[in-house]
Order: sequence, then structure tokens, then C-alpha cells
Amino acid sequence: MNEKIFDIAIVGAGVVGASIARKLSSYNLKVALLEKECDVSFGVSKANSGIIHGGFHHGSEYLKSKLEVQGNRMFDQLEQELHFPFRRCGIIVAAFSVEEMKTVEQLYMNGINNKVIGIEICNRSRILALEPKLNEDVAGGLYAPAGGIIEPYRFVFSLVESALKNGVNLFTEFKVVSAEHNTDGYTIISENGNSIKSKWIVNASGLFADEISKIFDAEIFKITPRKGEEFLLDRNSAARTDHVIFPVPDHISKGILVIPTVEGTTMLGPTAIPQESKEDVSTTSANLGMVFSSARRMVPSISQRDIITSFTGLRPVLEGGDFFIDISNKQVHFIQVAGIQSPGLTAVPAIAEYVKDLLKKDGLILTEKSSYDPTIEKLPRIRTLHPEEADTLIQSDPAYGEIVCRCESVSEAEIVAAVRNGHTTLDGIKFYTRAQMGRCQGGFCTDRIIKIIQRETGLSFEAITKRGKASWLLEDRIGDLIVNSYGGAE
Ligand SMILES: Cc1cc2nc3c(=O)[nH]c(=O)nc-3n(C[C@H](O)[C@H](O)[C@H](O)COP(=O)(O)OP(=O)(O)OC[C@H]3O[C@@H](n4cnc5c(N)ncnc54)[C@H](O)[C@@H]3O)c2cc1C
Repeated sequence: MNEKIFDIAIVGAGVVGASIARKLSSYNLKVALLEKECDVSFGVSKANSGIIHGGFHHGSEYLKSKLEVQGNRMFDQLEQELHFPFRRCGIIVAAFSVEEMKTVEQLYMNGINNKVIGIEICNRSRILALEPKLNEDVAGGLYAPAGGIIEPYRFVFSLVESALKNGVNLFTEFKVVSAEHNTDGYTIISENGNSIKSKWIVNASGLFADEISKIFDAEIFKITPRKGEEFLLDRNSAARTDHVIFPVPDHISKGILVIPTVEGTTMLGPTAIPQESKEDVSTTSANLGMVFSSARRMVPSISQRDIITSFTGLRPVLEGGDFFIDISNKQVHFIQVAGIQSPGLTAVPAIAEYVKDLLKKDGLILTEKSSYDPTIEKLPRIRTLHPEEADTLIQSDPAYGEIVCRCESVSEAEIVAAVRNGHTTLDGIKFYTRAQMGRCQGGFCTDRIIKIIQRETGLSFEAITKRGKASWLLEDRIGDLIVNSYGGAE
């Protein structure tokens, strides 16, 4: 058994754990980031709407409102340091009746009480001038210019890269299954028999925060997954709006949205259906119909013909609906970061600050690290370059001229960079580069990506997976047949 000793172990490398790890990496501390999957951001943080929310959906009595507004304001600096795709496109809530306009007024008051800047109630002509693709029957609405869009997985990858650069230790395939506590601190044991020691624990395990809390003999609570199905439209869809469009919300969810993603596609969703399973991420044609009719009520030009794919994310919902971020009352040196449903992605930079303050309150000594560097290298993305810039880059590295994914214009050099940054599954590469995310969903580029993974890592064809564990591409004899057709990988 290979045992290592840390000041803090963070369980879960989603956006919450990654953000806390990066924050703590600016102090003289030994930090471990533990993740059960083979890569980071493979949990809730990979399957969401990617919205940086506007801070008006909930009242100021909620911790999540306070952290949402603070977090929103921190994204400009984070983007400069970490270079993830982010744009403040603004959010619109579209109302279709006098009754709905009353709810808009409440949302506006939430925004004012939460100290949101620039929020505005709009009449019909103002809202249509802002967003001409809205249904002409719109009565008016709310405009929140500080709302934005982000590529969520790329954000997590950048946070982790920054944390690692500043000394955090990442342990993937480390599924925490048991823990012991004695005077030295905790011994944390993984499913595959590894262990580490740590004085403090931060529970940032998303959907599984209730199970981790139980393993450490801390608070008993229940996380109920709330299913959110999303449908993605092609980047050429004529229905793409300039702003994120929300309906007037009900008491359960923010409703079905029209989201112009930061990378150029349009997303419709999410549904909000409670379920028991933490694994069921199926999508259904019944919900497809419901999502499209709700979205078309706001933007009539939306067409089902533009769908390229669908996916499901599960919100980790705690009774009461607020975030539970606190020092445990039951277990020493244990910080709970649970129930981080929406607006978790937005709030996360503020969550990291909040957790840092809780750790300090709990006795952790924080001294700033003189060598801390908040920036990471900005890697070129060929599709974002001007043709002359692209030419210069290709001359210095011809692999930027080899386009592997034609739908999303991803070059071989970008795939190689993903692999060299530790993303060696098909999904890891997809989330890092966007290769396989376009109209053909990997139909043309998957075999080329597999060959690049093999070349870079020496992995056999059979060892390559979609997303780790048993998600091999091929099995048994069928595998042998197809392996041969790919040019005899083994
Ligand atoms: C459909 C949908 C849409 C959303 N849209 C938005 C949005 O637009 N804007 C917004 O602000 N928020 C949004 N959210 C919320 C946001 O996605 C979440 O708040 C956020 O991703 C939660 O991050 P997390 O790190 O807590 O969870 P996760 O990303 O799930 O991370 C937890 C990690 O812990 C790991 N883990 C679990 N158990 C163990 C164990 N035993 N050992 C080791 N590791 C373990 C998991 O594998 C996982 O990687 C949305 C959520 C959903 C589902």
C-alpha cells in the first residue's frame, strides 16, 4: 500500500473540487484531489447548460444567491488567467402575459436585493429590439447583461491544470470507499486498495456527497438526483439567439431555456425530473417533444431537423434547495460542500473562497505561496485564428494544418496536446478539444483520434476506452475483427 500524507484531501474533481484545489494551491499546503473516474469533470460538471447565471432567480436569503452573484463577477479575471471559452452574452427572461410580467417584477427585485448590476425590466419593444428572434407575442421581460456562457468542462480542465501547476496532487481512479480517523488525521482508502492520509477533508463529491458524508461518519442527508435532458442543435441553426433565453420560472426549475453555447451550437433544455438513480442518464423522445414545444413558444424558428445530439445531467439536489457548505458538526476537520445544484457552476469561484475561509476558521493555517502563478499557457485553437495567424502557426507546427475533426475544425496538434495533458479517453479528448462534438458526432474522426492516442501513449486498441472503466470500444472476438480493419493495432 502506497501511503501519502496531505494537509487537505478534496473528494471529487468536478468544478467544485477543482476550484477549491486551485484556490488552496495558492497557499503553502499539501493538497490532494481525489477522483473516482479516470479523468476530471466526468460527473455533473460535464453535463450542464454552461450558463453563468445572472443572480436574480432566488432571494437573498439563500447562500446560493450570494455565491452566485459573487461568482459571476469573478469570471472575467478567471478567463484572463485560464483561457477557457467564456462570453457575457446577457440573459433574457421572456414573459408572455400580464401575470408572467408580475413574476418578472419579482425576479427583478431578487436581482436588486442580490446587488446585481445592470438588470432591467423591459417592455415588448425593448425586449424584441434586444432579441429579434423572440416570438412576437412576447409581452416584455427581464434583461440581465452580466449573464454569460462558458464551456464547462474546459473550465474544469483549466482549473485542474492550474492547481497541478501550483503543486496539487491529483489521484484519478481513486474511488473513496472507506476512511479511518485517529489523532494523526484521516486515512482514506480507495476501492483499488490505495490510501492517503490527510488532516482535513473537503466533501465535494456532487451526487455522491451523501455517501461520502456517511463513509466519514459525518452528517446524514440525502441527495436526490434531478434529471435534466438537453438537446443540441447544429451550429448552422437559424434559430440561434444572441442571448440566453429563459421562460418565466416555476417553483421547481428555471424552465426550458434556449442557450446559444459559447462554441456556436444552440442548446435546448434542461428538463427537471426527480429520480432515485444516480446513474440513469437516458434521454427520451417524449421529453424531446416537450422541450421543443416549450422552446418554440419563445423562439418559433427552432426546428427539430437541426438536432445533432442529446444528453442528460443530474442535479445533486438537497432538501431545502440551498447549498450546504459548512464545517461538519459531527466530524472534526471535515468540510461539507453538498447540494451544489444550479447555479453551482456560476457560484464556484466564490464557493472556493468560502471554503478557504471555513478551513481557516477551523484552524488551518494559510500562508501565501510566493511561487504561486495563477496563469496557465494559452494553447492555440485553429478554428479561432485569423487565416494569416493560422498560416504562421502551421508553418511552425504542421500538425495544426492536419484537421482531424472537420465539423468543429480541430487539428491533430490540439488532440496531441489533450493526450499530453492526460486526457487519453475519447470523451476526455472530446471535452478538451471539441473533436467528436459536431454534426457527425465523431463519425469521421473517431478512428483518427484512436490512432493518435495509440501513437502518443502506446496503448493497445483494446485498452482505449470511451470514458474509462469498462467502456472499451471493442470486446472479445468482435473486437479482434474490427481491430484488424483499423490496420492491425495489436
Ligand atoms: C442539467 C444541468 C444543467 C445545469 N446548468 C447549470 C448552469 O447553466 N449554470 C450553473 O451555474 N450550474 C448549472 N448546473 C449545476 C452545475 O452543473 C453543478 O452545480 C456543478 O457541476 C456541480 O459540480 P460538482 O463538482 O459539485 O459535482 P461533480 O461535477 O459531479 O463532481 C463531483 C465529483 O466527485 C466524484 N466522486 C463521487 N464520489 C466519489 C468517490 N467515492 N471517490 C472519489 N470521487 C468521487 C465524481 O466522480 C465527480 O467527478 C446544471 C446542472 C445540471 C445537471
